[in-house]
Amino acid sequence: DMIASSDNRVVFGLGATGLSCARHLHRRGLAFAVVDTRAEPPGIAELRREMPEVPVFAGDVPLSVVEGAGELIVSPGVSLEEPLVRAAVQAGARVLGDVDLFVREARAPVIGITGSNAKSTVTELVGAMARAAGLNVGVGGNLGTPALELLDEARELYVLELSSFQLERAEPLNLAVAAVLNISADHLDRHGSMPRYHQAKHRIFRGCRSAVVHRDDPLTLPLVADDVTVISWRLREPELAGFGLRVIDGVDTLCHGFETLIAVADLPLAGRHNLANVLAALAIGHAADLPMPAMLRAVREFRGLPHRCQLVAERCGVRFVNDSKGTNIGATEAALKGLGGERNVLLIAGGQGKGADFGQLRQAVGAHCRQVLVMGEAAGALRESLSDIAEVIDVESMEAAVRRAAAAARDGDVVLLSPACASFDMFTGYADRGDQFAAAVARLGADA
Ligand code: ADP
Repeated sequence: DMIASSDNRVVFGLGATGLSCARHLHRRGLAFAVVDTRAEPPGIAELRREMPEVPVFAGDVPLSVVEGAGELIVSPGVSLEEPLVRAAVQAGARVLGDVDLFVREARAPVIGITGSNAKSTVTELVGAMARAAGLNVGVGGNLGTPALELLDEARELYVLELSSFQLERAEPLNLAVAAVLNISADHLDRHGSMPRYHQAKHRIFRGCRSAVVHRDDPLTLPLVADDVTVISWRLREPELAGFGLRVIDGVDTLCHGFETLIAVADLPLAGRHNLANVLAALAIGHAADLPMPAMLRAVREFRGLPHRCQLVAERCGVRFVNDSKGTNIGATEAALKGLGGERNVLLIAGGQGKGADFGQLRQAVGAHCRQVLVMGEAAGALRESLSDIAEVIDVESMEAAVRRAAAAARDGDVVLLSPACASFDMFTGYADRGDQFAAAVARLGADA
């Protein structure tokens, strides 16, 4: 039985992040218990093998287990509204996340990056910049390796992607550099409202030394103390000490103040939204004192991540683009604006809508889409929001979507998978969805 004491630690939620928390506490010789409301949580086998002495409560967990907890380390996948979490808090427990454990131990500067979209892309690019500068850098967090598994005495820098769920439960993180890339509606099913989502994201700035902001997105601008350095970027002429775009001798160029950095034509990443991503990464790297030549070497070589506006095939002048990671409206809007011409996009969308209002896609769909192929739970809502401005077609599967889109596509068109939805109604995740899209496209080729 658990004993009520401020030293009692409970790791709540046993996914990849929960397991990383358990391993961390175990390595440090600290006592703790693990709680998960699922009877067979993922990670339970590893836990039992690696630390058999740790008490695990899984399935129907009695209240008494958490009531005595001093610290409750809650995984990002667990809602803070979860009754057991609320009961523990009521009984006096302090709620923390994995990132709190991480910042207590990290001896090198930590960069934190959040936003509704582009987190992974910018995190990987900043990581590549640091490697180009010769630093021993740990890159991970919400993507890839959990933060705690990056800890290493030899590190010279950490670059973490942080989700709104990780931030929602974090105490002041005192990061060297904190950035909110953009804010648009996402996860409203769990955060409840835009103000609460916004508030969660902005917790990243608490105690930071430098803040990086998108000057033209007011929702990214923090309220910070005077001694915090603020570095800005935007997709037009930069502020004096900020990053932005200028036309120099007729050439679109990325600039830092009046300093010329690199011509847009020399960037391997496509789409205007990726210019934003490169500018944000440069601003973040600059805030962390990375040398500019190394950053620009990384930018010249960075080809982006799979499933993010990735060109998978070109057939008879039709480009097939996999943007399966476009899981909210802001992402799909950016993909349409970044890649679309005049009504030349056949958009494949749908899945789980997470409480979003698809009406916000009307302008981008009206400008760029000739056809929208809809699938999954959100198909009806998409049809309702869009059928008066583009042809909307219901499809049963990814295979059917790709076949119908390919049959209607003409030279110069783009068949774009950018679902504006989560994938879990029909796929194991966004990567599975993107892979199925690419496989269906490849089968088209085989039949031709
Ligand atoms: P995250 O980690 O925040 O989900 P990713 O880098 O994985 O971000 O990109 C997710 C999706 O966001 C991409 O597939 C693309 O559709 C969209 N996206 C990329 N860059 C931007 C941007 N600057 N603004 C809005 N959406 C973007």
